[in-house]
Amino acid sequence: MIKKITALLLASVMMIGTLSGCQQESKTENPTETVNETKKENTDTSQEAEELEGHLVSKDPVELSIHLHLADRIAFDDNWEVFKKAEELTNVKLSGTAPSSTSDSAQAFNTMLASGDLSDIITYSLDELSKYGMEGALIPLNDLILEHAPNFKKFLDENPDVRKTITAADGNIYAMAFVPDGQAAEGYFIRTDWLEKLNLDVPETVDEYYQVLKAFKEQDPNGNNEADEIPFIDRGKGDKTIGLVSLFGGHKSYYLDGNTVKYGPSEEAYRIGMENISSWYAEGLIDPEAFTRGSKARNILLEANVGGATHDWFGSTSIFNNTLPETIEGFKFEPIAPPADVNGKVWEATIRNNVPNGTKGAWGISITNPHPIETIQYFDFWWSEEGRRLMNFGVEGQQYDLVDGKPIFKESMLSGDESVVTLLEQVGAQIQIGFQQDFTYEEQWMNPVAKKGARMYIDGNYCEKAFPSLVFTDEEQDLLTEKQTAIDTLKKEVTQKWILNAEDVNDGWDQYIEALNNLGIEEVLEVYQNAYDRYMAQ
Ligand code: CA
Repeated sequence: MIKKITALLLASVMMIGTLSGCQQESKTENPTETVNETKKENTDTSQEAEELEGHLVSKDPVELSIHLHLADRIAFDDNWEVFKKAEELTNVKLSGTAPSSTSDSAQAFNTMLASGDLSDIITYSLDELSKYGMEGALIPLNDLILEHAPNFKKFLDENPDVRKTITAADGNIYAMAFVPDGQAAEGYFIRTDWLEKLNLDVPETVDEYYQVLKAFKEQDPNGNNEADEIPFIDRGKGDKTIGLVSLFGGHKSYYLDGNTVKYGPSEEAYRIGMENISSWYAEGLIDPEAFTRGSKARNILLEANVGGATHDWFGSTSIFNNTLPETIEGFKFEPIAPPADVNGKVWEATIRNNVPNGTKGAWGISITNPHPIETIQYFDFWWSEEGRRLMNFGVEGQQYDLVDGKPIFKESMLSGDESVVTLLEQVGAQIQIGFQQDFTYEEQWMNPVAKKGARMYIDGNYCEKAFPSLVFTDEEQDLLTEKQTAIDTLKKEVTQKWILNAEDVNDGWDQYIEALNNLGIEEVLEVYQNAYDRYMAQ
């Protein structure tokens, strides 16, 4: 049996190529409600059923091997204090098998699979674990969860979207996934000190937003008698500029209209958006180097006191307020509510996402694991209140103290040269195994401007419904692989041409739509719709 599966795995490994890794960040908001499970039953049929105290999984120590290599940099470390603490509480000891010498998580994963020598616990991206689960490398967890994982079962019952997201195309769950928690993702930022200087109000509509950018360009808010201001900053090589299409009611990619999957870039709103954005560009309201300046655009343009506005992540955009007021008198770069679009709708296209992402971490139980029940009980520990706190904040007394029942980071965590995330990872906390993140871990060191912005977008209920992480069959995946790249490339090229005014959008539009159709946009949409319908039916 093992031999057959190994052959299957080998065949699959040949096909998967480069993986997207697990490093992508996403932000979500979620209540911090947790469940508190104090007693578990050991139902291993090889022993007498007996009550075990606290989080104990077994009276006798259980040793399990674990493959964990994530984000091209994190390999399971047997010395991680967080997992030692978990061992103390559960009596389950993990030993890492992934080499820390490699910085290629995909290669480490593929090598382990191809060897046929599967670790007892396999950690990798949710998508890949679901895929190899369906091919027989992992055991389905559905019954185990039902019978032996009360914390996780309760979490799934209360979060049906998470259940849908972690369910593979064959209806089974093969992995418990990392569930992010957090605040809104991106928002509009503007130099509010410039608004004050020019005696302008915060723009509340797309027209007012345009007028503000225009005033930034023409009225010398930085006071050097030159029209050197660059009103809109784009650090996404055009992506932030294209995102302005939402001010015209458009979408820059796939989105949900009720329960229908649509492709924004083939819709009328996109054409209208391009018409306007290209005018803005021609009038100098958008960075002339929007498509080339790249990831340092905010640093360059804000530090030079010429950048005036952008649309970007709350966290990383707010931090310029920490340092720049020292060199730029009165500098304030603050979040504002989304200006109402041309239809009068106030909304934000980036999404709070509190369901697992297929490219992020998850863990499952290999078919060669001799202790599946103890393993699922161990997994479930991380969904208890104590386990969740351990994975989010580290070890009590070392990384944090409990103050009025709440974990508060020690000063040494917050004032060091290294980021809180780095310090936590060094002890094995905030590792993307199956656990639910707790946003309060981040809130303790988040910039107050960022916190204010995120809160504004959440309280204003601006963010669009999340596009779920869909699960595709092999056949669907093949079709997407074949057609989607060509469609994306075409969209990118043509959009750039329009914004840079190399072609008038109205001259090129019909031909563009025809090309999208020829490349199979309808078939791609059908695949998305079918996958979405399956998701909803679960
Ligand atoms: Ca100036």
